[in-house]
Formats: sequence, structure tokens, C-alpha cells
Amino acid sequence: MTTQDLWEGRPAARSGVLSPRGAGLPHFLTCIRGSAALRVALLVGCLAIPGFEVEAQTPTPRVRTCATFNFSPTEKRWIQEQLIVRYARVASRATFKRSGPVYPGTIPVVFHVIHSGEEGRVDRSVIDEQMDILNAAFAPIQFGLADVEYVDNANWFEMNPFSLATFFSKLFLQRDYTTTLNIYTGKLTGGFLGWAWFPFLAEYLPVFDAVTVDYGTLPGGDLDPYNEGDTIVHEVGHWAGLFHTFQGCWGPGDWIADTPAQAAPSYGCFEEIDSCPFQPGLDPSNNYMDYATDPCATEFTPGQEDRMRWSLATYRPQIWLRLVFGNN
Ligand SMILES: [Zn+2]
Repeated sequence: MTTQDLWEGRPAARSGVLSPRGAGLPHFLTCIRGSAALRVALLVGCLAIPGFEVEAQTPTPRVRTCATFNFSPTEKRWIQEQLIVRYARVASRATFKRSGPVYPGTIPVVFHVIHSGEEGRVDRSVIDEQMDILNAAFAPIQFGLADVEYVDNANWFEMNPFSLATFFSKLFLQRDYTTTLNIYTGKLTGGFLGWAWFPFLAEYLPVFDAVTVDYGTLPGGDLDPYNEGDTIVHEVGHWAGLFHTFQGCWGPGDWIADTPAQAAPSYGCFEEIDSCPFQPGLDPSNNYMDYATDPCATEFTPGQEDRMRWSLATYRPQIWLRLVFGNN
């Protein structure tokens, strides 16, 4: 199995027995279970394995490439079962029952702008514009900019999901992930536009709980047509518990009832694609969780909004309480 196979979540050789913990874990997590210290040691060990890095490549023309974990159908089923069981527990508490359509609080966001001299030093006005785009996409859930941190570090500026720059920048810069959405910008190698850490993974390796994007994806950046701020919207969708919409024609797919089955990502701006003609509906190619270009990524479905609410309440309870009861 190649490193790329692993990152894309293709089934690895393992027992395949579904259990509440362990056997159903994504393969990558079987490498990082154990105590916190052990997890860090194992992760560093993983990173030290020769060839355990993403080879730099620059697709031409550039398309959306998200490095967030993809999971096998078995893994997704385990994740869904965990969400149902654990959400049922928190939903029985009165404090978690309140939900939309208006939330009095906001999710605090800290931007860590990692730059190399002037390269990648994103203006504060661009970050403000990005926040407006984020809030428009996720309404009625709203985000509030808590801080913008500029870090001039050439060693951390270029990164990919497996690089030591990623590990150390997050280790040293992360604000409390239980109460804050950490967003890192830098120059991503490997052709990636971004990646995110799922909420159900935060308990395993919290140091990585964040959204990371190429600075060129922010509004007005140089990665046209992915420079209208929708990469952060897409990645925050993962951070809030959403899978990609393209999970194949058969089975439960992304576990969202109102996103039609989709065989493969949409690249570009297509009006009508039906990659699963024997299943109802056209491909959701205008969905934020597809790979469409920024001008064509325009919506989350009600089913996705429900899943994000359930995931936040279950796996990010302090953030959820802040949302539903206000910031004080
Ligand atoms: Zn993605």
C-alpha cells in the first residue's frame, strides 16, 4: 500500500470486524492509538518512515484537491453508528436540545497566517472578507474572528498533511481546539488546496484538529478559479463532520439523505451531470462538499446542516454550547 492509498482511506489489511472501538477505526488511527505521548511518538515514527510523505505534484490544469481523509464504506458506517449513539446521549440533555434557526453565539476562529517574508502574508482585510464568505455559507451558524496571528517562518510556510512543518506549526501555534476553530494558511505542496480534521478524530490526535488551506485560496488569491474563499467553507464542512458528496453510486454514500449519489467529483462548473443514472437525482455539483470551482459551489443541503449540528453537539460540545447560549 502506498502512502497516498493510506491518506485516501483505502481499506487496509486488518481484521475488518466492526466494534465500538478499535477494529473499525480508520487505518491511519491504528497507527496512532494509545496514550497521548505514545500517539505523538508513533506519529513521529510514521513520519520518519522513508517514503511516508506526499510527493509534490502540480496538476495541470489545477483542480480542487482536498487532502482530508476519505474513508472506506465500512469505516463510514462505523463513524455513522458512533455519531448516532453518542448524539442520542447528548441530545437527551436539556442543554443540547436547543437548535436554530437563530443562534445567539458564534464559533471563535483564530487565523494562523504562516508566511515567508512577504510571501503568504495575507492582509487582514482579506481575512475579514473570508469571514463574511464563511458566515454567508454557514448561516444561521456564525463564526467570529477571535484573533489573527502572523508567523514569519520559512520552515513552516510550505507544508502538506505529512510534513513536519504541519506537525510543529500546529503543536506550537494551536489555540484550545475544544473552544476554537484554528485555521492555518501557508503554501501547500502536493497540489492540495486544503485539508481538515474531522470532529470525531479530535479525541485521537487533537494537535491536528484544524483547517489548513493554501493562502492562494483566500478571496482574491492567486489560485483562480479557487480563489473566492470556498476552500475554507469546504474544509470547515469537514471540520463540522461532513464527508465529500462523491462516495459512489451504491450504499449510503455520504450518509446524507438529500445529496444524490455521486460516482466521482465534479471539476469545473457543470449544470447537469448524472454519474449514477440508476439512482435518483443529478450530481450535487453545486454543493460545497463536491470539488466544483468556487463560483459554482453554492450550497449545503438541509441534511448536511443537520449532520453538522449533530456532529458539533456530539464532538465539539463547548463550541456548541457557546453557539446556542451565546458567547458569555
Ligand atoms: Zn474535502
